[in-house]
Amino acid sequence: MQLISGARFGPFCAVLMLSVPLLAGESGLPDYGAAAGSCPAAAKTCLGIHLYVAVKDGVPVVESDWIASQVSNANRLFAPLEVAFEVVAAEVLPTDCLRVADRAARDGLGRTRWSKNAIHVFVTGRLDNVDEPGEIYGVHWRDRQQTSHRWIILSAIAWPHTLVHELGHYFGLPHSEDAVSIMTKGAPVPVPARERIFTEAQQRKMRRRLKRLLDSRMLRPLPRP
Ligand SMILES: [Zn+2]
Repeated sequence: MQLISGARFGPFCAVLMLSVPLLAGESGLPDYGAAAGSCPAAAKTCLGIHLYVAVKDGVPVVESDWIASQVSNANRLFAPLEVAFEVVAAEVLPTDCLRVADRAARDGLGRTRWSKNAIHVFVTGRLDNVDEPGEIYGVHWRDRQQTSHRWIILSAIAWPHTLVHELGHYFGLPHSEDAVSIMTKGAPVPVPARERIFTEAQQRKMRRRLKRLLDSRMLRPLPRP
């Protein structure tokens, strides 16, 4: 895993202004890549996650176990597609990204950081609901000026299946009424979160989207051993 620390300049969430020292280590971040592990051998397509994590009072808002359980749930639910994920890079976010309060801040997170090849995942301390008062666990977001540029934003309060739900959106799925689907949203349903899956129809749809993303070189699979 590549660890990167430094400032990027852009309209929002862009200027590095840390007032307190980071934790020990070059970037101040735990080794999220080692904790989450490599793509399982059974996966034919291994996709890289480029991670960005906000830091509060010198401490990253999430520990490596938190990332590992998000990636583990994603790999489990994507296994039928023979797709898996691993963390290929991690960067510290500037302190003004500790709260992502509005649409402009969501745009600002990725506008200066997005690139092809990997899926960009931003972890913040608080992710506000932009439609009504309150906060949310995660969101799949398109840059409003460049809608082919997409990324995932997670709040540190997310549940362990939030990443895989947002990856469902990333691969083209809307919310679902099917209680067994991980794409179910909102009120508690009879199927516990840990037992939810992608339905076969959802898997077919995601396979088609994945093929388009690979064919257009928006995503590049990592070499397999
Ligand atoms: Zn959703």
